[in-house]
Amino acid sequence: ENASSSPLLHNLNPEQRAAVTLPAEHALILAGAGSGKTRVLTTRIAWLLQTGQVTPGGILAVTFTNKAAKEMLTRLSAMLPLNVRGMWMGTFHGLCNRMLRAHHRSVNLPATFQILDTQDQLSAIKRLCKQFNVDEERFPPKQLQYFISGCKEEGQRPGDVPARDEDTRKKVELYQLYEDQCQREGVVDFGELMLRSYELLRDQDAIREHYRRRFRHVLVDEFQDTNRLQYAWLKMIVGLPGEGGGAIMAVGDDDQSIYAFRGARVGNMADFVREYQVRHQIKLEQNYRSYGHILDSANALIGHNTARLGKNLRTTQGAGEPVRVFEAASDFEEAQWLVDEVRQLVRNDGFARHEIAVLYRSNAQSRVIETALVNAGIPYRVYGGLRFFERAEIKHALAYLRLIENPRDDTSFLRVVNFPPRGIGARTIEQLQDLARESGCALVDAVSAVPGKAGANLGAFIAKIDVLREQTQGRTLREIIELVLEHSGLIEHYRADREGADRIENLEELVNAGESFVMQEGFGRDAVALPLDEQAPAALGQSPASQGLDLDAPVLDAPLAPDQETGETLSPLAAFLTHAALEAGDNQAQAGQDAVQLMTVHASKGLEFDAVFITGLEEGLFPHENSASDRDGLEEERRLMYVAITRARKRLYLSHAQTRMLHGQTRYNLRSRFFDELPEGALKWITPKRSASASTGAAPWGSSGAMPWEAAPRRNPTPQPAWGRSSLSAPDFGAGPVPERKSEPEHGLRVGMAVFHNKFGEGKVLAIEGAGADARAQVQFTRHGTKWLALSVAKLTPV
Ligand code: ATP
Ligand code: MG
Repeated sequence: ENASSSPLLHNLNPEQRAAVTLPAEHALILAGAGSGKTRVLTTRIAWLLQTGQVTPGGILAVTFTNKAAKEMLTRLSAMLPLNVRGMWMGTFHGLCNRMLRAHHRSVNLPATFQILDTQDQLSAIKRLCKQFNVDEERFPPKQLQYFISGCKEEGQRPGDVPARDEDTRKKVELYQLYEDQCQREGVVDFGELMLRSYELLRDQDAIREHYRRRFRHVLVDEFQDTNRLQYAWLKMIVGLPGEGGGAIMAVGDDDQSIYAFRGARVGNMADFVREYQVRHQIKLEQNYRSYGHILDSANALIGHNTARLGKNLRTTQGAGEPVRVFEAASDFEEAQWLVDEVRQLVRNDGFARHEIAVLYRSNAQSRVIETALVNAGIPYRVYGGLRFFERAEIKHALAYLRLIENPRDDTSFLRVVNFPPRGIGARTIEQLQDLARESGCALVDAVSAVPGKAGANLGAFIAKIDVLREQTQGRTLREIIELVLEHSGLIEHYRADREGADRIENLEELVNAGESFVMQEGFGRDAVALPLDEQAPAALGQSPASQGLDLDAPVLDAPLAPDQETGETLSPLAAFLTHAALEAGDNQAQAGQDAVQLMTVHASKGLEFDAVFITGLEEGLFPHENSASDRDGLEEERRLMYVAITRARKRLYLSHAQTRMLHGQTRYNLRSRFFDELPEGALKWITPKRSASASTGAAPWGSSGAMPWEAAPRRNPTPQPAWGRSSLSAPDFGAGPVPERKSEPEHGLRVGMAVFHNKFGEGKVLAIEGAGADARAQVQFTRHGTKWLALSVAKLTPV
């Protein structure tokens, strides 16, 4: 017939074409990664429109991310001249929002209702707890948030929750109060968007019938990751068979179900087939994305899972290049190797930077990689997340550190004066700001003028900072950061948060960042060493913050060199803060700039790249230690790994490190069991280039090219046997020259020593950091207070 000769169908294989041209009935496309599921969905929409079977207004398409929705729209408009306005395409939350806006009166919301994100929601719950004097020991706000979100995902209003015991009764009561508060303020949280929209369809017959008549075709991508309420919402929109609704086409891959921890229910697929008596089930087994070796690896790996619907992938593209595997001595070496490979891919093999993806299991892993990329001057973009120093929890910690350095830093003051919450309200802060404005002083100096309880609370905050400053005297940068994380209450705060584990990891990573800063860069030197042949990063001192919110600290651009007369210099802390500000504001890949893509494996779902690096393949990390202990958890980790592998078109790199600084400590990790589940024939072990990093001109880890704790001539560069577990002894400090760190300092100073400086007079050494030309000492002078001095310049004599 006419329709089947449409040019739209030319670029499809027979199974895909069958799926695209199915009659208007329910269908499930179950197929592996890269088999063209998303392409089928998009082409199906185009085909339905082109053949006049439906108008744009009759289509509802659900994607997993907003970006995917935009991409689908772009592809559609490339296929057809199209007015997309009437089409409903987006994420579940986006679509529910659209529906609630259209019917805000029916759901009793103001036209301008606002959406609370997860953080806002928590603040709202905390305010509530304060107001009703809730015992927060017994009912931590985080737990209440978890409880409320969980109820909503199950479709339960306060009246629907079975009150089994006293505690539950109390929580339900608070749930009700929270709802009242949100209603009063005209705000909805994410769960509420979904639930309220579901209830609208359930309870208002006319509206439900309207949408059922309207949406003739409902198409859902990534169906394996829908949760219970989302599936129930779809059932409302379409109705069960015989209820006059449209047709659902669901596409999914059980092997890519990776959100069980957030309530996703892979069982929705089986329920769908049963409840809708789905006659059309199509499998796609031809993979168009990846070369053979990559695909073989994916197939072999996922073959180790037991709970599978079962399907395999094949390609006609040929084997392609083997999967390259690299074993690094440390996470630093892994990052350095990665940077070298990226350079070669771009320079010698003609890969576009944005076609290169670096994947990791958890966010905290990105810092080391980011630093290496910054040092190499390679533009990058962190996808679906913020760069390390821009993350909220990191900025909070930095704000405390800044206040220690400078209590008059009002930006930092405002950022953390009530974070973690300590009962200082917006009113009080306004009052304080007014007072400071009137007398033209810093906020900290106006605190004593605030009367009453509010003033006392503010005073306690100032006292806390003062105590911290006192305690950090004579401490190393590492100790200072640890102290601040502990005593600011940040760690404790995030520990109580169900989504806080990642933030705690990041905060612990800040300790590592400080440690590395002191050891690698030698604080006080400009940290950014640029190889001349790489594209220079954006001009230093240009803060993205200067164009945006004032909550972002200004970039410090103070000269870092010590005073040539006295040797006085920035403290390691101040130097580190400068480094952090520069790194946050610097080398920002502009939108549209050709940048390497960094992201978690979770964020990579549905995407594809010419080259993919999967880093940190170590036991405890990937598979993650929280999941490795039970079978379901391990199988979900394996699906994650399957998702990661199948993102690659042409090149795939796998790497692991023997030692890694993580969670504030050095860990010796076994390499991931996933290596043992890959087909040996598809892999190529890359001999570690043990001496290479020392010979590269860039020397990003300091002038010696090796980390101070890595003995210079490393282990014999014999190739690692591919399948024997590597020996995981501690790094061999024994061989080769003694690490710099352990050598006798040439300045001959020790902590506690009494010294004399020709300008500042007598004092006592409180701390020493760095080595060689970068050695600095903190000295408490009898007359001139505490100062940091560069020992290469300052003349200090023991007395
Ligand atoms: P994932 O499970 O990762 O979401 P998917 O099944 O949705 O993958 P697509 O992203 O739709 O797969 O397709 C993978 C790649 O293969 C895309 O680049 C797509 O354009 C291409 N492709 C799909 N089908 C064909 C085909 N018949 N001929 C050529 N290329 C195709
Ligand atoms: Mg897809």
